[in-house]
Amino acid sequence: MPITVVGSIAYDTVRTPFGSRERMLGGAAVHFALAASFFDDVRVVGPVGEDFGEEQLEVMRRRGVDVSDIERVAGGKTFFWAGEYGWDLNSRETLDTQLGVFEGFEPKLSERSRSSEVLFLANIQPDLQREVRAQLPDARFVALDSMNLWIDIARDSLVGAIANVDCVILNDAELRQLTGKPNLLSAAREVLSWAPGDGDGSSRGPSVIVAKQGEYGAALVTRESFFALPAYPLESVIDPTGAGDTFAGGLIGYIAAHPDEELSDELLRRAMAHATVLASFNVEEFGTERIERLTSSEIQARILELHAMTQFSGVRLALRD
Ligand code: AMP
Repeated sequence: MPITVVGSIAYDTVRTPFGSRERMLGGAAVHFALAASFFDDVRVVGPVGEDFGEEQLEVMRRRGVDVSDIERVAGGKTFFWAGEYGWDLNSRETLDTQLGVFEGFEPKLSERSRSSEVLFLANIQPDLQREVRAQLPDARFVALDSMNLWIDIARDSLVGAIANVDCVILNDAELRQLTGKPNLLSAAREVLSWAPGDGDGSSRGPSVIVAKQGEYGAALVTRESFFALPAYPLESVIDPTGAGDTFAGGLIGYIAAHPDEELSDELLRRAMAHATVLASFNVEEFGTERIERLTSSEIQARILELHAMTQFSGVRLALRD
């Protein structure tokens, strides 16, 4: 099923203990689209400024991503983010966020982008996420990501956006911050109970919560079940920027590529494995560098390795009382 994604399309300046990059291609929608493009058709919606280069669009086009709904705003500046990581790559400091063309942006989706059956609301102001959600009322599967900034300054709008999606993907700390619950399971259960208000989009409410835990992996919570995977172990991590969006691209891409399967735990677990593997490639180099030259056979090989390293037997051992 084709996927439409709305979210930041950015220039990122990133410093890690292993090097730095100035104004490289980034943005939540870009990382997501490149990852999801291994599974299905992807259409990106969002604005860029006059400063956005043709070669950055070409990075997406080369992976078959439809960029025709990326609007170039005359005289505008592309979203800019700067961040720095210390030795603990799980925590980062945002040094600068400039919304640029996202300020005052009114998403106008083409017929094509509105016809997608899968929608990903990548990290951006929740009001924008809601506007785009409202333009795809009949989407079969809708997922959303967000971050601490929007929980801090636009929580009510974010809660409204979440009530109208099927799947919420957040860092575990963000999930706790959003709900005020210190425990991951109870925080996820709280979000699972949020239902849409009257006349506000669909009538479903979220049924799948994914809590990302950085280098420790990710957990999946539904009303009926719990599942967790470790991250794929790497000896060298260079830049975690975009790992979360790449993870989401693997997860949603895998679900979109299985339109005839019901959304069972079994399907969701396989999707989690693909998400984990895609994210593991993303962090091996700066920005989109590694994913740009990733191949499907590299993904497949790592899926088999992850499968092998997360199996165990001997469940029915005789134990002493
Ligand atoms: P991740 O590391 O997966 O959380 O995503 C990092 C990407 O999110 C970077 O490429 C940034 O351009 C983008 N980003 C950072 N802050 C924001 C924000 N406030 N709104 C939207 N996108 C952002």
